Amino acid sequence: MCDCKTEIEAQLVERLKAKHPAAAGHQAGLECYGFAIVGNTMTLRPYMPIKYGAGHTNKKTGREQWKTEKGTMAFSFCPFCGEGLEKDAQAQRPQEGEKP
Ligand SMILES: [Zn+2]
Repeated sequence: MCDCKTEIEAQLVERLKAKHPAAAGHQAGLECYGFAIVGNTMTLRPYMPIKYGAGHTNKKTGREQWKTEKGTMAFSFCPFCGEGLEKDAQAQRPQEGEKP
């Protein structure tokens, strides 16, 4: 996996230090990264929160009721540099006919 998360967080800290030089303990962290099991490997993956919905007709009243659901969608590629995120995990997957 690429180092975009680490590099961007370091750049954000530097930007914050320039903006608030008298402050101390500057920190920055990209959110929407979570651990996922890909193949046999636990990896840190970026994801995007999603919200979707549809109108459902209530059978008793006949009224349409809008229902929404929330979820997450994991990226297959780094959203910053475009590097594939599954190739490391795929390299460790057993090949067809090979015992795990
Ligand atoms: Zn990247």
